[in-house]
Amino acid sequence: MEEVLYYSTRSDREPIKASQAILKGLSEDGGLFVPDHIPALDVSPAKLAGLGYKEVAYEVMKLFLTDFTEEELKHCIESAYDEKFDTEVIAPLVEAQGAYYLELFHGATIAFKDMALSILPHLLITSAKKNDVKNEIVILTATSGDTGKAALAGFAGVKGTKIIVFYPKNGVSPIQEKQMVTQKGDNTYVVGITGNFDDAQTGVKKLFNDKELAKEMDAAGYQFSSANSINIGRLVPQIVYYVYAYAQLLKEGKISENEKINVVVPTGNFGNILAAFYAKNMGLPIDKLICASNDNKVLYDFFATGTYDRNREFVLTTSPSMDILISSNLERLIYRIAGNDAGKNAELMAALSGQGKYEITEDMKKELKDFYGNYATEKETAETIAAIYDACGYVIDTHTAVAATVYNKYKKETGDNTKTVIASTASPFKFTRSVMNAIDSKYDAMDDFALVDELSKIANVTVPNAIEEIRTAPVLHDHVCDKEEMKTVVKDFLKMA
Ligand SMILES: *Cc1c(COP(=O)(O)O)cnc(C)c1O
Repeated sequence: MEEVLYYSTRSDREPIKASQAILKGLSEDGGLFVPDHIPALDVSPAKLAGLGYKEVAYEVMKLFLTDFTEEELKHCIESAYDEKFDTEVIAPLVEAQGAYYLELFHGATIAFKDMALSILPHLLITSAKKNDVKNEIVILTATSGDTGKAALAGFAGVKGTKIIVFYPKNGVSPIQEKQMVTQKGDNTYVVGITGNFDDAQTGVKKLFNDKELAKEMDAAGYQFSSANSINIGRLVPQIVYYVYAYAQLLKEGKISENEKINVVVPTGNFGNILAAFYAKNMGLPIDKLICASNDNKVLYDFFATGTYDRNREFVLTTSPSMDILISSNLERLIYRIAGNDAGKNAELMAALSGQGKYEITEDMKKELKDFYGNYATEKETAETIAAIYDACGYVIDTHTAVAATVYNKYKKETGDNTKTVIASTASPFKFTRSVMNAIDSKYDAMDDFALVDELSKIANVTVPNAIEEIRTAPVLHDHVCDKEEMKTVVKDFLKMA
């Protein structure tokens, strides 16, 4: 097997091995790590159709994480995709209204981030062992809601790691807060801060860059690491479910061997759709990559004009996990369409942080022909939820509804009837109120858990464990601190003070 090494998108430093890229997360020059080439999938369609999720995961990940042994990688996969998921299939494909919904929400926190965050801790501790890191890994995260819980669930109880999550005390939904503060596990610590998400994020970055703290931590046997979505340890596991979706379509006879499919992804940070793009470049027969945005439609404008411009109002929507104006993972695509030119990419990224925008060349724009971008308004998103429910009784969440809306627009515009997989990124139970209001405004009067029961009834779906648990779970974390106190809080938790 050919070795894959990882380059930074911002300078021509020596490339590093996969395990080193996972440990580092981000390159010192601020760039993201990218594979020096995209390996080709070497499984025949006939064989692929017979593989389960974990087997597909191995076939895909072994090609990217080439310095992991077979035993190491299989151990990571087995530890991640187990009973934490409520179905053995891990990522079921559901046919509804002329499309295939790839349900990525059957993990511990009922959102697609579980797909990567349930394996990242194992990739990380394996990487630490391989590189003779003796320190315990301390994951430090600031969250606006979803990532925090998915990271907590992934790292809880994983030996050799601790995780500290900071969230804005009054800036997350009641269900999100309840999910986090009820987190079990001696190695977990959840702290609310009196400030907004930016304060939490800035505070965490400061701790990461605190050289003195790093020294003290090292002396005490600790080092920080990040579970951020730009880590290749989060990107690579996401390629798997597109290959697996294709395998399921083959197995069920929905497509013929090598038949092309389209993929629709509700997009925020551009991680999920980039994984689909990598799957296509591995040789998986994907035709169009349809990028769906909500009212924060920076990406739609980018695909339409070639200019990425974050200078605009930030809109709060009912699909909050896509309320993003800087899609970090897009940098990997920019680097690639710039001809893997780190200098050129670094220039564009400097323009983004300086002026808040950049423009790509006509030649680069031509390289984007596989992508189609569009967006859904709040009204359209709600109408799509209601329309699909009315037509076939299937209930989708708000993020998935953004994707379904954009898919309808795409079909209308192009007449393209290629079979299509829509990434279903969250359970409707995670965004119950918005979903139920979309179906009928009468539900607005009910309280959160009554709504959950009503959704279960009308959708004929059992209430997921993740929601059942927090109904009665005791609060285990009630620490609140000021943003200036974050360092002290970390030291206290690590008993370093
Ligand atoms: C994070 C998230 C997204 C956006 O995914 P990206 O990889 O950041 O583009 C979409 N939907 C849900 C439910 C999410 O949690």
